[in-house]
Formats: sequence, structure tokens, C-alpha cells
Amino acid sequence: MTSLLKDKNIVVMGVANNRSIAWGITKSLYNAGANLIFTYRQERSKQKLEKLLEKNEIKPKFIVSCDVEDDESIEQAFQEIGENAGTIHGLVHSVAFANTDELKGDYADTSRDGYLTAQNISAYSLAAVTREARKFMTEGGGIVTQTYLGAERVVPNYNVMGVAKAALEASVRYLAEDVGKDGIRVNAVSAGPIRTLSAKGVSGFNDKMSVVEEKAPLRRQVDQDQVGDATLFLLSDLARGVTGEVLHVDSGFHIVA
Ligand code: NDP
Repeated sequence: MTSLLKDKNIVVMGVANNRSIAWGITKSLYNAGANLIFTYRQERSKQKLEKLLEKNEIKPKFIVSCDVEDDESIEQAFQEIGENAGTIHGLVHSVAFANTDELKGDYADTSRDGYLTAQNISAYSLAAVTREARKFMTEGGGIVTQTYLGAERVVPNYNVMGVAKAALEASVRYLAEDVGKDGIRVNAVSAGPIRTLSAKGVSGFNDKMSVVEEKAPLRRQVDQDQVGDATLFLLSDLARGVTGEVLHVDSGFHIVA
């Protein structure tokens, strides 16, 4: 237990189940004293989240629906959050989506629709939620998103999602400039491969995990709790001088040739 986020209202987007990266983040933030507000897309995710919270004796401030493909849904969600919580001190963006058909084979075969969907949900959404959250981040704070090495390098089969993550990382920098004057920092965590519902959609995912264990300096897998603690750091005052940054939490895999 720490008190790094004591009395801070933090919005967490993207818990689908106990394997979600956002669930690892939830535990870290809760243990640091944060008041947590959750958003979900599918009703099924909401039910899973409620069960998890109950089982772990975590009392959320509240839970609200938000589909990041829909501007109205985003506006409504943040309006409700703002009205109920008053001030927002932090936001965790842990959402992404691409059709599984696009996560195998050649990137050149990506359909226009598949490309736009991946960009829309996985990259544009960060700008959209930053715009709405900013209205209530009147005391400054932090925004943290989740990215992956496929943004920087060609990772087989990651394809359209790698291109969306590249846009996401560039968005982190542009948004950091926009909201920096309001004392808001925007950063990303680039996690190594972690077995989650979304990861299952990427062809050959198991190989990506085993290569980390084999080649990364730390010779071990990354888990949701490690990403949770790094996200906590970026949201907390300890990272008050850090913005527009991509922090790798990947056992050091990205430095190895
Ligand atoms: P999960 O499947 O657990 O989480 C993905 C989340 O995205 C779900 O909660 C899902 O909500 C949400 N989502 C998808 N579409 C929308 C939408 N239109 N509106 C709102 N929410 C939406 O997978 P992860 O935890 O792995 O993914 C979280 C983030 O971490 C993603 O950005 C992913 O790219 C990133 N990441 C993952 C890595 C990994 O190896 N797993 C590595 C590096 C980064 P719902 O289920 O309700 O539809």
C-alpha cells in the first residue's frame, strides 16, 4: 500500500476480465489510494468487472458505459463522470481493437474498413477521450495509454495494429503538447506480450511471448501487475517531469537486436 494517488479520481477504461492489462492497473491504482471510476463497452465486460471488484473488495466510485467509436457516448460518459466526481485527476486508456482477419498474413492485404476500424478505436479514441476528460482535469493530472513494440518495428502479424499503435504514440506526443499548458501529462506504456483476450486475436502470439523469455535482458515474461505499477508511476507525482514519453515495460526486449 502507498498513498501516491490518495483521494485522486482516476478513470480506468478497458477492463474486460481478470486478464486485462487494465485489471492489473486497477489493482496498482487502488493500492495507491485512488478513487476509481470505470468505463466499459460490452455489458458482459461490465458484469465481469463488477464480479472482480466484489471479489477483490474494491469499491468503485462508479461505472459508466463508453463506446469509444461513438462521440456521443464519450461525451455522455465524461459528462456523467465530471458531474459525479467533480475533478478528474487521471485517465487510463487501455482499449484497442482490430478484426482478427487483419492480424495475420500480409499488411498489404489490409482492407480499408479494417484499417479505419483499427485507427478509430485504437488511436483516434485517445484524442477523443483526452478532449472530454480535459474539461474536468482542472487540477492537472496524467493520462496513460497502452502501446506495443509493433508501433516501432515490424512484428509479424501485428500489421494494422502496429500502424494504429504508431499513430497512438504520435498522438501521445501531440496531445502532451496540447494539454501540457493545463498541467496535464500524457504518456504511454509499451508492454511486452501478455496473454489477454485481445492478444488471442494476434496470429502466432505464443511465439512472441517465448522470444521475450529467451532474449530479453531480464529473461522473463511481463505481467499485468508490472504494467500496473509503471502506469501508477506515470500517473503519480513521481513522474511530474515526464510527458510525451513511451515507457517500455518489456523486460528490456526492445533494446536487443
Ligand atoms: P483486453 O481484451 O483485456 O482489453 C481490451 C479492451 O478494449 C476491452 O476492455 C474492450 O472492451 C475495449 N474496447 C475495445 N473496443 C472498444 C470500444 N469501441 N469502446 C470502448 N472500449 C473498447 O486486452 P488487453 O488488456 O491486452 O488490451 C488493453 C490495451 O493494451 C490495448 O490497447 C492493447 O493493444 C494494449 N497492449 C496489449 C498487449 C498484450 O500483449 N496483451 C501488449 C501491449 C499493449 P469490451 O471487452 O467491453 O469490448
